[in-house]
Amino acid sequence: MSANMVALAYLVASVFFILALKGLSSPESARRGNLFGMVGMAIAVATTLTLTQNWLLILGCIAVGGIIGAIVAQRVQMTAMPELVAFMHSLVGLAAVFIAVAAVNNPVSFGLPEILPGGSKLELFLGTFIGAMTWSGSVIAFLKLSGRMSGTPIVFSGQHMLNLLLAIIMIGFGLWFFFSETTNWTAFIAMTAIAFILGFLIIIPIGGADMPVVISMLNSYSGWAAAGIGFSLGNPMLIIAGSLVGSSGAILSYIMCKAMNRPFLSVILGGFGSDGGSAAAADDGVQKTYRSGSAEDAAFLMGNADSVIIVPGYGLAVARAQHAVKELAEILHEKGVNVRFAIHPVAGRMPGHMNVLLAEAEIPYEQVLEMDEINSDFSNTDVVLVLGANDVVNPAANVPGSPIYGMPILDAHKARTVMVVKRSMAVGYAGLDNDLFYMDKTMMIFGDAKKVVEHMVKAL
Ligand code: NDP
Repeated sequence: MSANMVALAYLVASVFFILALKGLSSPESARRGNLFGMVGMAIAVATTLTLTQNWLLILGCIAVGGIIGAIVAQRVQMTAMPELVAFMHSLVGLAAVFIAVAAVNNPVSFGLPEILPGGSKLELFLGTFIGAMTWSGSVIAFLKLSGRMSGTPIVFSGQHMLNLLLAIIMIGFGLWFFFSETTNWTAFIAMTAIAFILGFLIIIPIGGADMPVVISMLNSYSGWAAAGIGFSLGNPMLIIAGSLVGSSGAILSYIMCKAMNRPFLSVILGGFGSDGGSAAAADDGVQKTYRSGSAEDAAFLMGNADSVIIVPGYGLAVARAQHAVKELAEILHEKGVNVRFAIHPVAGRMPGHMNVLLAEAEIPYEQVLEMDEINSDFSNTDVVLVLGANDVVNPAANVPGSPIYGMPILDAHKARTVMVVKRSMAVGYAGLDNDLFYMDKTMMIFGDAKKVVEHMVKAL
């Protein structure tokens, strides 16, 4: 393939990637967006194959990776999706490091001069350290999200200073690598090792409640690592795709921080939630009482209401209750009840988690409203049904001094009657007790969300 044809094919693939991002910005067009992404990637891979004689080896690797990926994707539970995403990011980071090591080891085979020029060294340095940090940071995010490691922030005094010091030393080794006349392996290995350690250190102080931002931030890092490597290899496709991933991840992180009303820097520097936690919040010495009822009681109340808002949360995903909920909403709708769903930006365990679940059950999009669109309606609503959600409706977010102070919440506590479906009085992801459960107007309905909703449907 001529150089012009390759450039043209890469350009077409890039347009498909941009269309993919555009499509993914709304649940209605997400399927189409995914399709565009797949077409773009197929064009990019096919074009790249024409640039190499090694295509048998590459196709073999794609086949092995593809088969593993297909098996993993088929087996993964919806609830385990975020940790799978974190795991994938870690692989992107590691791939960037491997490519950089190979290019430093044998520049000629990558089309670079035998003695690496300064520009290439800088690009390889950037790709390697961002890639290494992405790998180790994503591994910690994976361990935290999958529950293999506690979500509680790990903090110690002098932590930020240590990170800063390590970053300076790492840059020092980077400069040594850059200014060395021949390949300086000592500097390169030391720099990479410190970057791996920094990745761990940067993510361990970040608490569970901030994990959504971390995931999208790591997503962004993995994109920039790929873009850095793209510069080294002189591959425009890698640069464009990497930059798209890098910038969209950064924009998503920014949007999420804005939605949580928290400065981006305080999130990525970590330590959030360390002054609160479940033990302190749950054992404040005050004996609180709550009211519980049955699914039948709840069905009666909802059947006689004019308006019902359903707030789905992580528990809905765990119980796989989305189809039962759709049935419930349909029956209420037939009875003339105005039923709507309220989506908090970080409900569940990944951005868009609830939208995906409700879309899977084919709940009409016009019934599904984002927090900003529906929050002012809670005070005029008869019944709010909180299904497996906790942090996203915790009024503690309005109390100065609370670890989640300042995070916007769905104002479920303002509705006339609140019904909460969960299995126990246990805390949510941020580890905080929830005063909503103890309000006079609240009725707790204990049980698995799917079973409870099925009982409601039967009773209605
Ligand atoms: P929470 O984790 O706060 O609460 C979920 C509740 O669901 C729990 O209290 C649990 O209580 C209940 N539950 C669990 N399983 C079931 C079940 N089978 N049936 C019924 N109830 C069940 O979830 P939210 O969605 O309210 O909030 C999301 C939290 O996760 C936020 O803190 C957010 O920051 C964080 N997060 C969000 C991410 C994202 O991108 N969206 C990523 C990572 C973290 P019980 O055990 O008593 O049943």
